[in-house]
Amino acid sequence: MRGIERIILESNTFKLVSREYQNESSVIKLNNGYKIGDKKIAVIAGPCAVENKKQLFECVEFVKNAGASVIRGGAFKPRTSPYSFQGLEKKGLELLALVREKTGLPVITEVMCPENVDLVASYADILQIGTRNMQNYPLLKKVGKVNKPVLLKRGMSATIEELLLSAEYIVSNGNSRVILCERGIRTFETMTRNTLDLSIIPIVKSLSHLPIVVDPSHATGKRELIEPMAKAAVAAGADGIMVEVHPNPDDALVDGKQSLGHADFYKLMHGLIPVVRAVGREI
Ligand code: PEP
Ligand code: MN
Repeated sequence: MRGIERIILESNTFKLVSREYQNESSVIKLNNGYKIGDKKIAVIAGPCAVENKKQLFECVEFVKNAGASVIRGGAFKPRTSPYSFQGLEKKGLELLALVREKTGLPVITEVMCPENVDLVASYADILQIGTRNMQNYPLLKKVGKVNKPVLLKRGMSATIEELLLSAEYIVSNGNSRVILCERGIRTFETMTRNTLDLSIIPIVKSLSHLPIVVDPSHATGKRELIEPMAKAAVAAGADGIMVEVHPNPDDALVDGKQSLGHADFYKLMHGLIPVVRAVGREI
C-alpha cells in the first residue's frame, strides 16, 4: 500500500511451548532415562530444605520405599526473612548427590541466581526455578543453556500466559526440557497459604505441550489439605505432584506445617491409586 515501506511482524506471545508449534505432548526425559509427562504420574517428594544427613537420608529412604520417583530438597532457600535458615548451600548439594548415588533416584533442587546455575547443575538432575524467580529473566536465559531439565514454578502473582512466556524464555534459549509447576497463587483468602488454581491444568494442556505438576504443599500451607488437593490435581490431569515430607514435620526448619510425616505420605500414596487408575494413568 502507498505510504507503507515495510511490515515487521512482532510476536509477544509464546510459540515454541504452544500446541500449535508441537501438537504432541512433550515427555521430559531425565538424564538417567526416567520420564515426566508420560502415563506414569511423577511423585516428587522430600524435605523443603536439606537440614542434615540424618534428616535427609531418613526421609529419602521412606519416600523411596513408599513409591516416590524423584527426590526433592532445597539447598539454596529463598526465604522471606533474611534471619530464617537459608539452606546448607554447597553442602546440601553434596548430600543430594549422595542420595542419588545411594538410591538411584533423580534429585531436584532450586537454583536462585545465574551465577549458581553451573554449580547446581553439576549436582542436580532437575533444576527448580522457584515462584519468586519465575520472571528472573537472566536466570531463565541461563538455565536455557544448560543440559538439564528445568521445573518452572508459577509466580505467586503470575498469570498462566506469563508462566508460559517464562517457559518460552528457557526453550528459546535452547533447553526444551521444561516442566511447569502450579504451586498456588495469592488471593484474598487467608485460610490457606495460597489458592491452588486447578484450572491451570486443563488450560495448560490445551495451550501447551509441556507437562505440568502440582505442589499442594506450597499451594495450601496445610498438611491436612495435601491429600485432597493432590487427588484433585491428578483427577484434573496433572502429570505429577511435588510434596514436602519430613521425618518430624513439627521440628522442620522450614515449612513444617505443610510437610507430611512418613505415615501420612504412605497414606497419600495409597489414596492416590484409585484416582490415578480412574484417569487411565499409572503410579
Ligand atoms: C520450595 O519448593 O521449597 C519453594 C520455595 O517453593 P516456591 O518457590 O513455590 O515457594
Ligand atoms: Mn518449602
